[in-house]
Amino acid sequence: RELSAWTPDKIVKSPHKDVDIPSRTVPEQIWENMERWVDRTAIECAITKQSYTYHQIYKYSRNFAAKLRTQLKIRDGDVVCIMMPNCPDFAVAVLGALEAGAEVTTVNPIYTAHEVQRQITLSDPKVVIGIPETITILKEALALAKKDLPIIAIKGVDGVLPPGTISFHEFALADNVDHSVLKEVRRKSEDVAFLPYSSGTTGLPKGVELVHRNIVVNLLQQNVDTIRHYDETTKSSQDVALAVLPFYHIYGLSIVLLHKLSVGLKVVTLPKFQPNTFTAALKEHKTNVLCAAPPLILFLGSHPGITNEHLAFIKTITSGAAPLPRKDVVSVFDKVKHKMNFLQVYGLTETAPLATAMLPGSEEYSTAGYAISNTELRIVDSALKPLGPKEVGELLIRGPQVMKGYRNNPEATKKCMTEDGWFQTGDLASIDTDGTVTIADRLKELIKVKGYQVPPAELENVLKEHPDVLDAAVIGVPDTRMGEVPKAFIVLREGHRADANSITTFVSKRVAEYKRIKEVRFLNELPKNPSGKILRRVLKEL
Ligand code: ATP
Ligand code: MG
Repeated sequence: RELSAWTPDKIVKSPHKDVDIPSRTVPEQIWENMERWVDRTAIECAITKQSYTYHQIYKYSRNFAAKLRTQLKIRDGDVVCIMMPNCPDFAVAVLGALEAGAEVTTVNPIYTAHEVQRQITLSDPKVVIGIPETITILKEALALAKKDLPIIAIKGVDGVLPPGTISFHEFALADNVDHSVLKEVRRKSEDVAFLPYSSGTTGLPKGVELVHRNIVVNLLQQNVDTIRHYDETTKSSQDVALAVLPFYHIYGLSIVLLHKLSVGLKVVTLPKFQPNTFTAALKEHKTNVLCAAPPLILFLGSHPGITNEHLAFIKTITSGAAPLPRKDVVSVFDKVKHKMNFLQVYGLTETAPLATAMLPGSEEYSTAGYAISNTELRIVDSALKPLGPKEVGELLIRGPQVMKGYRNNPEATKKCMTEDGWFQTGDLASIDTDGTVTIADRLKELIKVKGYQVPPAELENVLKEHPDVLDAAVIGVPDTRMGEVPKAFIVLREGHRADANSITTFVSKRVAEYKRIKEVRFLNELPKNPSGKILRRVLKEL
Protein backbone atom coordinates (compact mmCIF):
# COMPACT_ATOMS: atom_id res chain seq x y z
CA ARG A 1 0.00 0.00 0.00
CA GLU A 2 1.96 3.00 -1.30
CA LEU A 3 -0.12 5.68 0.32
CA SER A 4 2.53 8.16 1.16
CA ALA A 5 5.64 8.99 -0.75
CA TRP A 6 9.21 9.65 0.26
CA THR A 7 10.66 12.37 -1.91
CA PRO A 8 14.26 12.01 -3.20
CA ASP A 9 15.43 14.41 -0.47
CA LYS A 10 13.84 12.19 2.19
CA ILE A 11 10.75 14.19 2.98
CA VAL A 12 7.64 12.16 3.77
CA LYS A 13 4.42 13.59 2.32
CA SER A 14 0.90 13.19 3.61
CA PRO A 15 -1.40 10.70 1.83
CA HIS A 16 -4.31 13.11 2.35
CA LYS A 17 -5.27 15.95 0.05
CA ASP A 18 -4.28 19.41 1.22
CA VAL A 19 -6.81 21.73 2.77
CA ASP A 20 -7.08 25.42 1.93
CA ILE A 21 -5.98 27.64 4.74
CA PRO A 22 -8.58 30.33 5.26
CA SER A 23 -7.75 33.58 7.00
CA ARG A 24 -10.34 33.07 9.72
CA THR A 25 -10.05 33.42 13.46
CA VAL A 26 -10.90 30.49 15.71
CA PRO A 27 -14.39 31.79 16.63
CA GLU A 28 -15.13 32.52 12.96
CA GLN A 29 -14.28 28.89 12.17
CA ILE A 30 -16.55 27.62 14.95
CA TRP A 31 -19.46 29.76 13.74
CA GLU A 32 -18.77 29.07 10.05
CA ASN A 33 -21.34 26.29 9.52
CA MET A 34 -23.34 26.83 12.69
CA GLU A 35 -26.60 27.71 10.89
CA ARG A 36 -26.94 24.01 10.10
CA TRP A 37 -27.18 22.97 13.75
CA VAL A 38 -27.97 26.21 15.52
CA ASP A 39 -30.80 24.90 17.73
CA ARG A 40 -29.07 21.70 18.74
CA THR A 41 -27.27 21.21 22.04
CA ALA A 42 -23.64 22.25 21.68
CA ILE A 43 -22.39 21.32 25.10
CA GLU A 44 -23.81 19.68 28.21
CA CYS A 45 -22.41 18.74 31.61
CA ALA A 46 -22.81 15.01 32.26
CA ILE A 47 -23.20 15.64 36.00
CA THR A 48 -25.35 18.77 36.39
CA LYS A 49 -27.06 18.51 32.96
CA GLN A 50 -26.49 22.23 32.47
CA SER A 51 -26.32 22.81 28.71
CA TYR A 52 -26.13 25.41 25.94
CA THR A 53 -27.38 25.23 22.37
CA TYR A 54 -25.19 26.45 19.52
CA HIS A 55 -27.26 29.61 19.36
CA GLN A 56 -26.65 30.17 23.06
CA ILE A 57 -22.88 29.65 23.01
CA TYR A 58 -22.69 32.08 20.08
CA LYS A 59 -24.77 34.73 21.83
CA TYR A 60 -23.21 34.25 25.28
CA SER A 61 -19.66 34.28 23.92
CA ARG A 62 -20.34 37.59 22.20
CA ASN A 63 -21.99 38.97 25.33
CA PHE A 64 -19.01 37.94 27.38
CA ALA A 65 -16.62 39.43 24.81
CA ALA A 66 -18.47 42.77 24.78
CA LYS A 67 -18.42 42.92 28.60
CA LEU A 68 -14.70 42.09 28.71
CA ARG A 69 -14.06 45.07 26.41
CA THR A 70 -16.43 47.58 27.97
CA GLN A 71 -16.27 46.72 31.68
CA LEU A 72 -12.76 45.33 32.05
CA LYS A 73 -11.10 47.26 29.23
CA ILE A 74 -9.66 44.13 27.62
CA ARG A 75 -7.89 45.02 24.38
CA ASP A 76 -6.52 43.08 21.40
CA GLY A 77 -3.63 40.86 22.50
CA ASP A 78 -4.34 41.02 26.24
CA VAL A 79 -4.10 37.64 27.95
CA VAL A 80 -7.10 36.02 29.65
CA CYS A 81 -6.30 33.19 32.05
CA ILE A 82 -8.81 30.36 32.50
CA MET A 83 -8.50 27.86 35.35
CA MET A 84 -11.41 25.49 35.49
CA PRO A 85 -12.44 21.90 34.89
CA ASN A 86 -14.44 20.87 31.81
CA CYS A 87 -17.92 22.40 31.82
CA PRO A 88 -20.22 24.17 29.32
CA ASP A 89 -19.07 27.61 30.50
CA PHE A 90 -15.51 26.71 29.48
CA ALA A 91 -16.63 26.99 25.85
CA VAL A 92 -18.23 30.38 26.41
CA ALA A 93 -15.20 31.68 28.33
CA VAL A 94 -12.72 30.60 25.65
CA LEU A 95 -14.74 31.74 22.64
CA GLY A 96 -15.75 34.95 24.40
CA ALA A 97 -12.17 35.83 25.27
CA LEU A 98 -11.10 35.19 21.66
CA GLU A 99 -14.04 37.24 20.34
CA ALA A 100 -12.82 40.07 22.57
CA GLY A 101 -9.47 39.91 20.77
CA ALA A 102 -7.67 38.39 23.73
CA GLU A 103 -5.18 35.52 23.92
CA VAL A 104 -6.20 32.61 26.11
CA THR A 105 -3.93 30.78 28.51
CA THR A 106 -5.44 27.76 30.25
CA VAL A 107 -4.25 26.46 33.61
CA ASN A 108 -4.49 22.93 34.97
CA PRO A 109 -7.34 23.16 37.53
CA ILE A 110 -5.49 20.93 39.98
CA TYR A 111 -2.34 23.06 40.06
CA THR A 112 -1.11 24.44 43.37
CA ALA A 113 -0.83 28.18 43.97
CA HIS A 114 2.92 28.03 43.27
CA GLU A 115 2.41 26.33 39.92
CA VAL A 116 -0.30 28.82 38.98
CA GLN A 117 1.85 31.73 40.07
CA ARG A 118 4.58 30.63 37.66
CA GLN A 119 2.15 30.54 34.73
CA ILE A 120 0.62 33.88 35.74
CA THR A 121 4.02 35.53 35.97
CA LEU A 122 5.06 34.10 32.60
CA SER A 123 1.85 34.83 30.71
CA ASP A 124 0.96 38.17 32.37
CA PRO A 125 -2.86 37.99 32.12
CA LYS A 126 -5.20 40.99 32.54
CA VAL A 127 -8.05 38.96 34.02
CA VAL A 128 -8.50 35.46 35.48
CA ILE A 129 -11.56 33.20 35.29
CA GLY A 130 -12.37 30.28 37.58
CA ILE A 131 -14.91 28.31 39.58
CA PRO A 132 -15.11 28.66 43.40
CA GLU A 133 -12.58 25.84 44.01
CA THR A 134 -9.96 27.25 41.64
CA ILE A 135 -10.60 30.87 42.68
CA THR A 136 -9.13 30.12 46.10
CA ILE A 137 -5.92 28.95 44.37
CA LEU A 138 -6.00 31.80 41.85
CA LYS A 139 -6.22 34.36 44.68
CA GLU A 140 -3.22 32.84 46.44
CA ALA A 141 -1.31 32.70 43.14
CA LEU A 142 -2.10 36.36 42.37
CA ALA A 143 -0.86 37.35 45.83
CA LEU A 144 2.36 35.39 45.28
CA ALA A 145 2.78 37.03 41.86
CA LYS A 146 2.02 40.43 43.45
CA LYS A 147 -0.74 41.11 40.95
CA ASP A 148 -4.13 42.62 41.57
CA LEU A 149 -6.39 41.51 38.72
CA PRO A 150 -10.14 41.30 38.21
CA ILE A 151 -11.38 37.77 38.96
CA ILE A 152 -14.38 36.38 37.12
CA ALA A 153 -16.17 33.50 38.82
CA ILE A 154 -18.68 30.92 37.74
CA LYS A 155 -21.05 30.32 40.64
CA GLY A 156 -20.85 27.04 42.51
CA VAL A 157 -23.76 24.58 42.82
CA ASP A 158 -24.87 26.50 45.93
CA GLY A 159 -25.32 29.59 43.76
CA VAL A 160 -22.87 31.59 45.85
CA LEU A 161 -20.34 33.89 44.21
CA PRO A 162 -16.90 33.91 45.90
CA PRO A 163 -16.27 37.29 47.60
CA GLY A 164 -14.48 39.93 45.58
CA THR A 165 -15.28 38.38 42.21
CA ILE A 166 -17.31 39.35 39.14
CA SER A 167 -20.13 37.03 38.09
CA PHE A 168 -19.40 35.23 34.82
CA HIS A 169 -23.09 34.64 34.22
CA GLU A 170 -23.99 38.30 34.75
CA PHE A 171 -21.59 39.09 31.92
CA ALA A 172 -22.38 36.24 29.56
CA LEU A 173 -26.09 35.68 30.11
CA ALA A 174 -27.15 39.35 30.31
CA ASP A 175 -30.00 40.57 28.11
CA ASN A 176 -29.65 43.16 25.37
CA VAL A 177 -25.87 43.44 25.45
CA ASP A 178 -24.58 45.89 22.84
CA HIS A 179 -22.14 43.98 20.63
CA SER A 180 -21.11 46.98 18.52
CA VAL A 181 -17.93 47.37 20.57
CA LEU A 182 -16.71 44.10 19.01
CA LYS A 183 -16.32 45.92 15.68
CA GLU A 184 -13.16 47.43 17.17
CA VAL A 185 -11.53 44.00 17.47
CA ARG A 186 -8.77 43.51 14.89
CA ARG A 187 -7.58 39.94 15.09
CA LYS A 188 -5.80 38.38 12.15
CA SER A 189 -5.06 34.75 11.53
CA GLU A 190 -1.38 35.42 12.35
CA ASP A 191 -2.19 36.74 15.84
CA VAL A 192 -1.82 34.55 18.90
CA ALA A 193 -5.03 32.83 19.99
CA PHE A 194 -3.77 30.42 22.61
CA LEU A 195 -0.87 30.40 24.97
CA PRO A 196 -0.95 26.88 26.37
CA TYR A 197 1.92 25.64 28.47
CA SER A 198 3.29 22.25 27.41
CA SER A 199 2.77 19.40 29.86
CA GLY A 200 6.07 19.92 31.64
CA THR A 201 6.83 16.22 31.37
CA THR A 202 10.51 16.78 30.73
CA GLY A 203 11.11 20.13 32.41
CA LEU A 204 9.30 23.30 33.31
CA PRO A 205 6.36 23.98 31.00
CA LYS A 206 7.04 26.48 28.20
CA GLY A 207 4.45 28.95 26.88
CA VAL A 208 3.56 27.92 23.33
CA GLU A 209 2.29 30.65 21.01
CA LEU A 210 -0.43 29.22 18.78
CA VAL A 211 -1.88 31.67 16.29
CA HIS A 212 -5.47 31.51 15.01
CA ARG A 213 -4.26 29.96 11.74
CA ASN A 214 -2.50 27.10 13.57
CA ILE A 215 -5.73 26.06 15.27
CA VAL A 216 -8.09 26.76 12.34
CA VAL A 217 -6.01 24.68 9.95
CA ASN A 218 -5.68 21.87 12.47
CA LEU A 219 -9.48 21.76 12.80
CA LEU A 220 -9.84 21.58 9.00
CA GLN A 221 -7.11 18.94 8.69
CA GLN A 222 -9.34 16.63 10.75
CA ASN A 223 -12.27 17.01 8.36
CA VAL A 224 -10.79 15.59 5.15
CA ASP A 225 -12.78 12.57 4.00
CA THR A 226 -9.87 10.15 4.27
CA ILE A 227 -9.48 10.82 7.98
CA ARG A 228 -12.92 11.89 9.18
CA HIS A 229 -14.13 9.68 12.03
CA TYR A 230 -17.53 11.11 12.99
CA ASP A 231 -20.72 11.78 11.06
CA GLU A 232 -21.59 15.31 10.18
CA THR A 233 -24.58 16.70 12.01
CA THR A 234 -27.75 16.67 9.93
CA LYS A 235 -31.43 17.47 10.54
CA SER A 236 -31.98 13.95 11.85
CA SER A 237 -28.75 13.03 13.62
CA GLN A 238 -26.01 14.43 15.82
CA ASP A 239 -22.99 12.51 17.05
CA VAL A 240 -22.03 12.79 20.72
CA ALA A 241 -18.44 13.30 21.85
CA LEU A 242 -17.60 12.62 25.49
CA ALA A 243 -15.14 15.23 26.77
CA VAL A 244 -13.22 13.68 29.62
CA LEU A 245 -9.76 14.86 28.51
CA PRO A 246 -9.10 18.18 30.23
CA PHE A 247 -9.77 21.31 28.16
CA TYR A 248 -6.81 23.11 29.68
CA HIS A 249 -4.51 20.79 27.69
CA ILE A 250 -4.28 21.28 23.92
CA TYR A 251 -5.61 17.79 23.08
CA GLY A 252 -8.84 18.38 25.02
CA LEU A 253 -9.06 22.02 23.99
CA SER A 254 -8.48 21.70 20.26
CA ILE A 255 -9.32 18.13 19.22
CA VAL A 256 -12.21 17.67 21.61
CA LEU A 257 -13.80 21.03 22.41
CA LEU A 258 -13.05 23.23 19.38
CA HIS A 259 -13.04 20.58 16.69
CA LYS A 260 -16.24 18.88 17.81
CA LEU A 261 -18.01 22.27 18.11
CA SER A 262 -16.77 23.26 14.66
CA VAL A 263 -18.60 20.28 13.12
CA GLY A 264 -21.80 20.51 15.14
CA LEU A 265 -21.39 17.57 17.51
CA LYS A 266 -22.83 17.48 21.01
CA VAL A 267 -20.00 17.74 23.49
CA VAL A 268 -20.76 16.10 26.85
CA THR A 269 -18.37 17.30 29.55
CA LEU A 270 -17.02 15.57 32.64
CA PRO A 271 -15.24 17.81 35.15
CA LYS A 272 -12.79 15.03 35.97
CA PHE A 273 -12.24 11.35 35.36
CA GLN A 274 -14.06 9.21 37.91
CA PRO A 275 -14.78 5.59 37.02
CA ASN A 276 -18.48 5.68 37.96
CA THR A 277 -19.46 8.99 36.36
CA PHE A 278 -17.40 8.26 33.26
CA THR A 279 -18.94 4.81 32.83
CA ALA A 280 -22.45 6.17 33.34
CA ALA A 281 -21.93 9.04 30.88
CA LEU A 282 -20.60 6.70 28.17
CA LYS A 283 -23.81 4.70 28.30
CA GLU A 284 -26.38 7.36 29.10
CA HIS A 285 -25.31 9.67 26.27
CA LYS A 286 -24.81 6.86 23.73
CA THR A 287 -21.31 8.22 23.12
CA ASN A 288 -20.14 8.05 19.49
CA VAL A 289 -16.72 9.64 19.69
CA LEU A 290 -14.31 9.23 22.56
CA CYS A 291 -10.99 11.01 22.56
CA ALA A 292 -8.72 9.32 25.06
CA ALA A 293 -5.16 8.88 26.26
CA PRO A 294 -3.45 5.57 27.10
CA PRO A 295 -4.55 5.37 30.77
CA LEU A 296 -8.18 5.63 29.67
CA ILE A 297 -7.72 2.94 27.01
CA LEU A 298 -6.22 0.73 29.73
CA PHE A 299 -9.26 1.46 31.90
CA LEU A 300 -11.75 0.67 29.09
CA GLY A 301 -10.08 -2.64 28.34
CA SER A 302 -9.34 -3.83 31.86
CA HIS A 303 -12.19 -2.52 34.01
CA PRO A 304 -14.92 -5.14 34.48
CA GLY A 305 -17.52 -2.35 34.76
CA ILE A 306 -17.04 -1.47 31.07
CA THR A 307 -18.98 -3.80 28.80
CA ASN A 308 -20.36 -3.83 25.26
CA GLU A 309 -23.35 -1.90 26.56
CA HIS A 310 -21.18 1.15 27.28
CA LEU A 311 -19.40 1.04 23.96
CA ALA A 312 -22.25 -0.02 21.70
CA PHE A 313 -22.62 3.39 19.98
CA ILE A 314 -18.93 4.19 19.65
CA LYS A 315 -17.82 5.01 16.11
CA THR A 316 -14.30 6.07 16.99
CA ILE A 317 -11.92 6.03 19.90
CA THR A 318 -8.73 8.05 19.58
CA SER A 319 -5.66 7.79 21.76
CA GLY A 320 -2.75 10.17 21.87
CA ALA A 321 -0.35 11.99 24.20
CA ALA A 322 1.73 8.94 25.15
CA PRO A 323 2.84 5.55 23.80
CA LEU A 324 0.15 2.88 23.77
CA PRO A 325 0.68 -0.89 23.78
CA ARG A 326 -1.30 -2.76 21.13
CA LYS A 327 -2.54 -5.18 23.77
CA ASP A 328 -4.49 -2.43 25.55
CA VAL A 329 -6.39 -1.62 22.34
CA VAL A 330 -7.14 -5.26 21.60
CA SER A 331 -8.66 -5.62 25.10
CA VAL A 332 -11.13 -2.85 24.23
CA PHE A 333 -12.02 -4.43 20.88
CA ASP A 334 -12.54 -7.76 22.66
CA LYS A 335 -15.45 -6.16 24.52
CA VAL A 336 -17.35 -4.71 21.56
CA LYS A 337 -19.62 -6.51 19.14
CA HIS A 338 -19.77 -3.91 16.35
CA LYS A 339 -17.25 -2.40 13.96
CA MET A 340 -15.55 0.70 15.25
CA ASN A 341 -12.48 2.78 14.48
CA PHE A 342 -9.49 3.09 16.67
CA LEU A 343 -7.19 5.95 15.77
CA GLN A 344 -3.88 6.47 17.40
CA VAL A 345 -3.03 10.16 17.05
CA TYR A 346 0.26 11.91 17.63
CA GLY A 347 1.07 15.52 18.21
CA LEU A 348 2.46 18.12 20.53
CA THR A 349 1.31 21.36 22.07
CA GLU A 350 3.70 22.97 19.57
CA THR A 351 1.73 21.50 16.62
CA ALA A 352 -1.71 22.70 17.71
CA PRO A 353 -1.67 19.63 18.37
CA LEU A 354 -2.36 17.06 15.62
CA ALA A 355 0.49 16.00 13.31
CA THR A 356 -0.12 12.34 12.45
CA ALA A 357 -3.07 9.95 12.73
CA MET A 358 -4.01 6.42 11.82
CA LEU A 359 -6.48 5.96 8.99
CA PRO A 360 -10.00 5.00 10.09
CA GLY A 361 -10.41 1.22 9.82
CA SER A 362 -6.71 0.43 10.16
CA GLU A 363 -5.68 -2.23 12.66
CA GLU A 364 -2.09 -1.14 13.09
CA TYR A 365 -2.93 0.14 16.54
CA SER A 366 0.59 0.66 17.77
CA THR A 367 1.58 3.05 14.99
CA ALA A 368 0.88 6.76 14.89
CA GLY A 369 -0.36 6.51 11.31
CA TYR A 370 0.40 9.03 8.58
CA ALA A 371 1.10 12.75 8.35
CA ILE A 372 -2.18 14.65 8.19
CA SER A 373 -2.96 17.05 5.32
CA ASN A 374 -0.46 19.84 4.53
CA THR A 375 2.06 18.18 6.83
CA GLU A 376 5.55 16.94 5.96
CA LEU A 377 7.75 14.70 8.05
CA ARG A 378 11.40 13.89 8.18
CA ILE A 379 13.61 11.65 10.30
CA VAL A 380 17.09 12.96 11.08
CA ASP A 381 20.18 11.87 12.98
CA SER A 382 21.81 13.93 15.72
CA ALA A 383 23.57 16.10 13.10
CA LEU A 384 20.17 16.77 11.44
CA LYS A 385 21.16 14.61 8.44
CA PRO A 386 17.99 13.15 6.84
CA LEU A 387 17.52 9.39 7.31
CA GLY A 388 15.54 6.97 5.15
CA PRO A 389 12.65 4.51 5.56
CA LYS A 390 12.72 2.40 8.76
CA GLU A 391 15.75 4.25 10.17
CA VAL A 392 15.32 5.52 13.71
CA GLY A 393 16.02 9.17 14.47
CA GLU A 394 14.42 12.40 15.59
CA LEU A 395 11.07 13.23 14.02
CA LEU A 396 10.77 16.66 12.37
CA ILE A 397 7.48 18.23 11.34
CA ARG A 398 6.75 21.00 8.86
CA GLY A 399 3.25 22.33 8.35
CA PRO A 400 0.86 25.23 8.90
CA GLN A 401 -0.01 23.98 12.39
CA VAL A 402 3.51 24.47 13.76
CA MET A 403 3.56 27.14 16.48
CA LYS A 404 4.90 30.64 16.12
CA GLY A 405 7.38 30.06 18.95
CA TYR A 406 7.81 29.91 22.71
CA ARG A 407 6.67 33.07 24.46
CA ASN A 408 9.52 35.35 25.47
CA ASN A 409 11.97 32.54 24.85
CA PRO A 410 13.72 33.03 21.48
CA GLU A 411 16.55 30.71 22.52
CA ALA A 412 14.23 27.77 23.15
CA THR A 413 12.41 28.56 19.88
CA LYS A 414 15.67 28.63 17.94
CA LYS A 415 16.73 25.31 19.43
CA CYS A 416 13.73 23.48 17.98
CA MET A 417 13.20 25.21 14.62
CA THR A 418 15.48 24.79 11.63
CA GLU A 419 16.00 27.61 9.15
CA ASP A 420 13.87 25.90 6.51
CA GLY A 421 10.87 25.66 8.81
CA TRP A 422 11.19 22.20 10.35
CA PHE A 423 10.11 21.76 13.96
CA GLN A 424 12.22 19.34 15.98
CA THR A 425 9.89 17.26 18.11
CA GLY A 426 12.44 15.74 20.49
CA ASP A 427 10.76 12.40 19.80
CA LEU A 428 12.54 9.36 18.47
CA ALA A 429 10.64 7.69 15.62
CA SER A 430 10.88 5.77 12.37
CA ILE A 431 8.82 5.98 9.19
CA ASP A 432 7.98 3.00 7.00
CA THR A 433 8.27 2.99 3.19
CA ASP A 434 4.55 3.76 2.91
CA GLY A 435 4.75 6.65 5.35
CA THR A 436 3.54 4.98 8.56
CA VAL A 437 5.08 6.61 11.60
CA THR A 438 6.09 4.67 14.69
CA ILE A 439 7.00 6.72 17.75
CA ALA A 440 9.70 5.04 19.82
CA ASP A 441 10.14 7.42 22.72
CA ARG A 442 11.35 10.83 23.75
CA LEU A 443 15.04 11.47 23.07
CA LYS A 444 15.38 12.95 26.56
CA GLU A 445 14.08 9.81 28.20
CA LEU A 446 16.33 7.28 26.48
CA ILE A 447 18.26 5.12 28.91
CA LYS A 448 21.94 4.96 28.08
CA VAL A 449 23.34 1.51 28.90
CA LYS A 450 27.06 1.53 28.12
CA GLY A 451 27.01 2.89 24.56
CA TYR A 452 23.51 1.63 23.82
CA GLN A 453 20.28 3.59 23.86
CA VAL A 454 17.25 1.90 25.35
CA PRO A 455 13.78 3.47 24.85
CA PRO A 456 11.79 2.94 28.07
CA ALA A 457 8.53 2.67 26.09
CA GLU A 458 9.84 -0.47 24.36
CA LEU A 459 10.46 -2.20 27.70
CA GLU A 460 7.10 -0.98 29.05
CA ASN A 461 5.46 -2.64 26.07
CA VAL A 462 7.19 -5.93 26.82
CA LEU A 463 6.35 -5.72 30.53
CA LYS A 464 2.70 -5.21 29.75
CA GLU A 465 2.66 -8.52 27.89
CA HIS A 466 3.34 -10.24 31.23
CA PRO A 467 0.06 -11.86 32.32
CA ASP A 468 0.19 -10.45 35.85
CA VAL A 469 1.16 -6.89 34.90
CA LEU A 470 -1.49 -4.21 34.55
CA ASP A 471 0.75 -1.20 34.05
CA ALA A 472 4.48 -0.54 33.89
CA ALA A 473 6.99 2.29 33.71
CA VAL A 474 10.73 2.12 33.14
CA ILE A 475 13.47 4.63 33.97
CA GLY A 476 17.25 4.56 33.88
CA VAL A 477 19.07 4.47 37.21
CA PRO A 478 22.79 5.20 37.61
CA ASP A 479 25.12 2.21 37.59
CA THR A 480 28.86 2.42 38.15
CA ARG A 481 29.70 -0.24 35.55
CA MET A 482 27.07 0.34 32.85
CA GLY A 483 26.43 4.09 33.19
CA GLU A 484 22.68 3.52 33.48
CA VAL A 485 20.50 0.43 33.79
CA PRO A 486 16.72 0.00 33.30
CA LYS A 487 14.57 -0.15 36.42
CA ALA A 488 10.90 -1.14 36.21
CA PHE A 489 7.95 0.08 38.27
CA ILE A 490 5.12 -2.41 38.12
CA VAL A 491 1.43 -2.30 38.94
CA LEU A 492 0.03 -5.83 39.20
CA ARG A 493 -3.44 -6.84 38.03
CA GLU A 494 -5.98 -7.14 40.82
CA GLY A 495 -5.73 -10.52 42.56
CA HIS A 496 -2.49 -11.42 40.72
CA ARG A 497 0.90 -12.06 42.26
CA ALA A 498 4.36 -12.00 40.73
CA ASP A 499 7.83 -11.48 42.17
CA ALA A 500 10.67 -9.39 40.81
CA ASN A 501 12.39 -12.48 39.47
CA SER A 502 9.40 -13.51 37.35
CA ILE A 503 9.33 -10.00 35.87
CA THR A 504 13.03 -9.76 35.03
CA THR A 505 13.12 -13.29 33.59
CA PHE A 506 10.10 -12.53 31.42
CA VAL A 507 11.83 -9.48 29.94
CA SER A 508 15.24 -11.15 29.58
CA LYS A 509 13.71 -13.81 27.34
CA ARG A 510 12.39 -11.15 24.99
CA VAL A 511 15.03 -8.44 24.65
CA ALA A 512 18.74 -8.06 23.90
CA GLU A 513 21.03 -8.47 26.88
CA TYR A 514 21.82 -4.76 27.33
CA LYS A 515 18.11 -3.93 27.60
CA ARG A 516 17.46 -6.28 30.54
CA ILE A 517 15.64 -4.93 33.60
CA LYS A 518 18.00 -4.81 36.57
CA GLU A 519 15.68 -3.61 39.31
CA VAL A 520 11.95 -3.94 39.97
CA ARG A 521 9.71 -2.08 42.32
CA PHE A 522 5.99 -2.69 42.82
CA LEU A 523 3.60 0.24 43.14
CA ASN A 524 -0.18 0.55 43.52
CA GLU A 525 -0.37 3.21 40.85
CA LEU A 526 1.99 4.96 38.44
CA PRO A 527 2.45 8.73 38.63
CA LYS A 528 0.88 10.18 35.47
CA ASN A 529 -0.16 13.70 34.65
CA PRO A 530 -3.77 14.46 33.64
CA SER A 531 -2.89 14.23 29.96
CA GLY A 532 -1.88 10.60 30.50
CA LYS A 533 1.90 10.80 30.50
CA ILE A 534 4.10 8.82 32.85
CA LEU A 535 5.97 11.24 35.08
CA ARG A 536 9.39 9.61 34.94
CA ARG A 537 10.96 12.45 36.87
CA VAL A 538 8.67 11.59 39.82
CA LEU A 539 9.77 7.95 39.58
CA LYS A 540 13.39 9.08 39.61
CA GLU A 541 12.80 10.87 42.89
CA LEU A 542 11.31 7.74 44.52
P1 ATP B 1 7.08 19.23 27.98
O1 ATP B 1 7.41 19.56 26.55
O2 ATP B 1 6.71 20.43 28.78
O3 ATP B 1 8.09 18.35 28.66
P2 ATP B 1 5.14 17.38 26.90
O4 ATP B 1 6.08 17.26 25.75
O5 ATP B 1 4.72 16.12 27.58
O6 ATP B 1 5.72 18.38 27.99
P3 ATP B 1 2.80 17.84 25.27
O7 ATP B 1 2.97 18.85 24.21
O8 ATP B 1 1.51 17.72 25.97
O9 ATP B 1 3.84 18.15 26.41
O10 ATP B 1 3.12 16.40 24.72
C1 ATP B 1 3.78 16.12 23.50
C2 ATP B 1 4.53 14.81 23.62
O11 ATP B 1 3.62 13.74 23.88
C3 ATP B 1 5.25 14.39 22.36
O12 ATP B 1 6.50 15.03 22.24
C4 ATP B 1 5.38 12.88 22.55
O13 ATP B 1 6.51 12.55 23.32
C5 ATP B 1 4.13 12.52 23.35
N1 ATP B 1 3.11 11.90 22.47
C6 ATP B 1 2.03 12.47 21.92
N2 ATP B 1 1.31 11.60 21.20
C7 ATP B 1 1.96 10.42 21.27
C8 ATP B 1 1.73 9.11 20.72
N3 ATP B 1 0.68 8.83 19.97
N4 ATP B 1 2.64 8.15 21.02
C9 ATP B 1 3.72 8.41 21.78
N5 ATP B 1 3.98 9.61 22.33
C10 ATP B 1 3.12 10.61 22.08
MG1 MG C 1 7.23 18.66 24.74
